[in-house]
Amino acid sequence: MSSSIHMTPEQYAECRHHSQITPPLALTAREATLGEGMKIRRLLPHRQQRMIGAWCFFDHAGPADVSQGSGVRVGPHPHTGLQTFSWMIEGEILHRDSLGVKQLLTQGQVNLMTAGRGISHSEESPEQRSPQLQLAQFWIALPDEKRFIEPAFEHYPELPKVALEQAQLTLLVGEMFGHVSPVAVHTPLLGADITSQAATTLNLPLNPAFEYGIAVLTGSATVEDQQLQPGTLLYLGKGRSQIDLAVLEASQIILIGGEPFAEEIMLYWNFVARNKTEVLEFIQLWKETDHFGQVVGYDGEPLAAPDLR
Ligand code: MN
Repeated sequence: MSSSIHMTPEQYAECRHHSQITPPLALTAREATLGEGMKIRRLLPHRQQRMIGAWCFFDHAGPADVSQGSGVRVGPHPHTGLQTFSWMIEGEILHRDSLGVKQLLTQGQVNLMTAGRGISHSEESPEQRSPQLQLAQFWIALPDEKRFIEPAFEHYPELPKVALEQAQLTLLVGEMFGHVSPVAVHTPLLGADITSQAATTLNLPLNPAFEYGIAVLTGSATVEDQQLQPGTLLYLGKGRSQIDLAVLEASQIILIGGEPFAEEIMLYWNFVARNKTEVLEFIQLWKETDHFGQVVGYDGEPLAAPDLR
């Protein structure tokens, strides 16, 4: 019996390729409390990794009991230069915006609001609602040539679903397993929700040109010997063509990715800008003009922009 220690040229290329892959980086979320005790884990931006592709903001809110009091109430506020992407895991939120849109977002649905040059909106728990609320909220930075486009709003009542072993993958943004999400974005991007009822191992195809982040919302999993628990975003840089995701128990997991964003952004309050001068201009437009329009029907005051000095 003989065996060769020599690698084939293909194996050698694969090995060199692997040596260029950076090890995963575990990013710890910052925790905050919104209103009447809804816990939020802010996974992006993180000081060690500001963005993943064009994903520049990632909050995991809840699960929280919103059966008492008035639940979530976020008054009218402006956005620029981004798309807000809301993925409802449990419960309901009522969205209103300055385009005149009033849209209830319920479990398994996505709201995509394109701010472009400017929009304002409010978010509130509807009067008739489920006791539990849990959602993932993201911002997607718009590239320079698209960041002043006209504002728009889309509601996606259903997203493509893929059955995998014990799990179900919902394709939020981009392409995977031959499915394409209808969610309209402006840079190469991927977003997926993986929900499993039991322990299982999944092999996920990746795009080597993309960087990725993976976060467990509930449950636990391991990727490349890194244990994943709620409150951690595991950053995976470019160069991977696949990952093995070992789901250790019933879990809900988010995978995001994209081509590294080519531009430096400045994120301040609800604005995505490029520099301080722009931010100051957006603050002034919010304070002194009707640039962001009016949100009709929200019972409460607009939010005040924090001063930037
Ligand atoms: Mn908002």
